[in-house]
Amino acid sequence: MVDPSERSQGAVPEVCDVCIVGPGIAGLNALFAASRHLTRDQRVILVERRERVGGMWVDTYPYVRLHQPHGLFTVGNIPWQLDRNRSHLATKAEVLDHFEHCLDVLRGRVRIDERFGWSFESADESADGVEVVCSSGDGRRLTIRATNLIKAFGLDVTRNAPLTVSSSRVRSVSPDGCDVRQGDMRASTAPVWVIGGGKTGMDTVHTLVTEYPGREVNLVAGSGTYFVRRDWAFPVGARRWWRGPLPDAVAADAARRFDGTNEVEVAAWYRTTHGIDVTGAASNFVLGVLSEAESDTITSGLGAVYMDHFVDAVDRDGATDVVLRSGARKAIEPGSWIVNCTGYVRIDAPYEPYVSPGGRVVTIQPRSAIMHLPGFMGYYLTHLLMSGKATTVPLYELDWKGLLDGGGKPAFSYAVMALAMYNLGLLADALPGRVFRDCGLDFDRWYPAPRRLAGQARFAATSHRDRNHHRRTLDTIRGRFGIRCGPLVEA
Ligand SMILES: Cc1cc2nc3c(=O)[nH]c(=O)nc-3n(C[C@H](O)[C@H](O)[C@H](O)COP(=O)(O)OP(=O)(O)OC[C@H]3O[C@@H](n4cnc5c(N)ncnc54)[C@H](O)[C@@H]3O)c2cc1C
Repeated sequence: MVDPSERSQGAVPEVCDVCIVGPGIAGLNALFAASRHLTRDQRVILVERRERVGGMWVDTYPYVRLHQPHGLFTVGNIPWQLDRNRSHLATKAEVLDHFEHCLDVLRGRVRIDERFGWSFESADESADGVEVVCSSGDGRRLTIRATNLIKAFGLDVTRNAPLTVSSSRVRSVSPDGCDVRQGDMRASTAPVWVIGGGKTGMDTVHTLVTEYPGREVNLVAGSGTYFVRRDWAFPVGARRWWRGPLPDAVAADAARRFDGTNEVEVAAWYRTTHGIDVTGAASNFVLGVLSEAESDTITSGLGAVYMDHFVDAVDRDGATDVVLRSGARKAIEPGSWIVNCTGYVRIDAPYEPYVSPGGRVVTIQPRSAIMHLPGFMGYYLTHLLMSGKATTVPLYELDWKGLLDGGGKPAFSYAVMALAMYNLGLLADALPGRVFRDCGLDFDRWYPAPRRLAGQARFAATSHRDRNHHRRTLDTIRGRFGIRCGPLVEA
């Protein structure tokens, strides 16, 4: 009999079949995949330093909306309970409710114990299992002995702070601490300067111009971001039968066009054919999605747009200026708001391989990415792990941070598409068809079954032929940027 005080001190390990750290979209998809390989009496322990499931959605700004139609942001093939039309872009609260629902569904398949408020500290892998050590905020320790460990750190997005400014006459806020629809922002009529032209910037400008028609809203867009045109990628109603290219086919097309050096050319094609850009001059692309209606609302309500980077707001001689990286200065009305929308993806984590040499630990994080989005990584890597194939299938891993920091930002999305296409081919050879049928994250699911089946047939027919090209592209990326991009084991 174990003394309960010993267990609470972490001296006596808790025992489970699978330990999953981080139940965001990646960790929950890992849980779904694991549940396919476990029986009802087997045990999964979920470790999470936040107090609930949902990952970044727990903390992100309150007016965030999903990029993709809600049904495509799910866990395995678990359908949403929401009574909205299929193109509805779920709110933060709806996303969090769906995550809870998914966890409930999975509780019916396998024994799940949550350890919220615990941080993963270390793991020690041996021939017969992994010993995981976690800590709580108040200094307690928890030891877990697991057959397999999945570290689903994913993008590990954390809250943004307001930008630091020298001026005492402006109000600098972060969307995570200031709901721009309420409070002092609503009470004031002062201009708003949105800093950052990515997804958060677009959400923020859209919210501001909708909530406060006629108010001055300016955008400092940096290099600007272009997006996938949602109306084209996800046509509504009967048009799904004949309009819009299947997203997988677009990614395959982009990956075929990209050779590791020609991102300028591929981007020009992509922007014209599939993209949308409110600034007209954007050069960044991180697979975000925007509709024509959102873009029209944004452009019709926006004041000035600066393709430049914010440096500071400074007071001088009774006036206040915004200072930009180019050296330009713009006069700003006292009392104006500066909203930090400069992005969340920082990638501070050190490199870890996507699978440990011993084969019991899988890590989902962007320094060893194997796909374009973490949900897919959690799903497929767990299937490989639980089938005993994680160390034998020679997936390519790509260091996103190395690429982004090493001057490869314009090539990023096309490199990631090449990576996803290459690895999907290997996964299709290694995993049974049911795994792919159960993957509800697949954007092609937007389209009717006959179109999807035709798409799958095309992929099957071309995947082997395209593989050599994708591999050469990824090898070129490795050499050109001097980054980690390749297999852990040689085929
Ligand atoms: C503003 C914003 C909007 C986005 N919108 C979309 C969208 O509409 N569609 C889309 O597909 N993608 C979107 N993304 C990308 C998005 O980040 C992912 O889709 C996804 O939700 C990330 O999930 P994740 O599981 O990878 O990471 P997270 O949600 O960050 O989950 C990782 C979890 O691991 C936990 N964790 C990490 N380290 C430890 C540790 N040591 N101990 C314990 N727990 C730990 C974290 O607390 C966290 O809960 C958006 C990103 C941002 C920033």
